[in-house]
Amino acid sequence: MNPAAEGSAAAYDAIIVGAGPAGSVCAAHLAQAGRRVLLIEKARFPRDKVCGDCLNPSVWKVLDRLNLRERLLALPHVVVREVSYHGHRGAPLRFPVPHSGEIVVKRRDFDALLARRAVEAGVEFRDGVTVTRIANGWKVETDGGFFHGRVLIAADGRNSTVARLAGRLPASARERSAIQCHCRRPAWHGDAVRMLFYPGGYGGTARVSADEINLCLVARPRDLARVRAHAERDFGLNGESEWRTIAPIARSDARDIARDGLFLLGDAARVVEPFTGEGIYYAMRSGELAAEAILSNADAEAAYRRAHSEMYRGRLWINRLAHAAGTHSRLASLALRAFRAWPAPLAALTAKVVART
Ligand SMILES: Cc1cc2nc3c(=O)[nH]c(=O)nc-3n(C[C@H](O)[C@H](O)[C@H](O)COP(=O)(O)OP(=O)(O)OC[C@H]3O[C@@H](n4cnc5c(N)ncnc54)[C@H](O)[C@@H]3O)c2cc1C
Repeated sequence: MNPAAEGSAAAYDAIIVGAGPAGSVCAAHLAQAGRRVLLIEKARFPRDKVCGDCLNPSVWKVLDRLNLRERLLALPHVVVREVSYHGHRGAPLRFPVPHSGEIVVKRRDFDALLARRAVEAGVEFRDGVTVTRIANGWKVETDGGFFHGRVLIAADGRNSTVARLAGRLPASARERSAIQCHCRRPAWHGDAVRMLFYPGGYGGTARVSADEINLCLVARPRDLARVRAHAERDFGLNGESEWRTIAPIARSDARDIARDGLFLLGDAARVVEPFTGEGIYYAMRSGELAAEAILSNADAEAAYRRAHSEMYRGRLWINRLAHAAGTHSRLASLALRAFRAWPAPLAALTAKVVART
């Protein structure tokens, strides 16, 4: 770090890197409790994000604690009425979820709402600023200046720069990638979330507005073009969509999610399979848990580690199952055929994820 610039750095109780759901929720709670908080975000807001745009019903409790329910419902959104599974061949399996509470809203709108809420709580929000270096203490170097924070919070996603700079991000294996776009809604696409198993990968669609759907595809890099060609044919796309991309899809958990005043939140700490549709909830809830721990004045780091592990209790098997289905799409497709004869287990699994409260 440049010592001269460092000397004049502004000081904060907390510096949070990343204004996704984890960072903005944590920032809002800390600022609401009177802490001086800086939220640094590399993208200019509002920004798009590779995501299925599905909000698991668990998020409502987190939103209510920030008084955001009505403001979220005022954004363009679609209520999910059904989940359907589409294998390589044969008729789809459909499960109605009439009162699940799951909705679909573009991340561009959702994340902007959360960041706005943080600003209203008193957070200083700097978007278009990228963190490039950190030093214990915590000193943060960005392309827009130097900052000091008593605690540093990494909420900068699955490829967390902060976790990497702190030596807490595990090396990522050669993994699958995802591509995502918002595209024209075919007339036959209703309010179902559709899970699609293609040879070589999987995907999902959800209606986001009257005339648009969100389409996500996940595959190994060598299979992605083939999977995309299948989807483009199925959804009548002629190359006009703007695809965004992200990798890796799975990754080992970060090391030491809370130590020496550095806390890791959301995807920076642990990544779950997109198929589960739970990543946004875990990110928001980890933001709340980190804020609670920091405000408790007890051993904040131990408190956060405990609460973080408790948050996933009894649910990681869903992630393992989703990972297995996502990496072996042919087997998943065969399993779907079996579920046609005996749909109860898949209906129960769907309810466990989508109708979760
Ligand atoms: C294909 C796909 C589909 C998915 N679908 C769903 C779904 O339907 N429902 C669901 O619940 N979850 C879904 N997920 C998971 C969900 O997207 C993530 O779990 C969630 O976004 C994690 O939130 P976060 O706040 O931890 O990080 P992010 O949302 O990734 O936010 C991190 C922020 O940090 C910023 N940042 C990164 N580096 C820096 C830096 N150096 N300096 C400053 N800022 C930085 C980024 O610009 C970004 O805004 C999906 C994931 C994938 C890959």
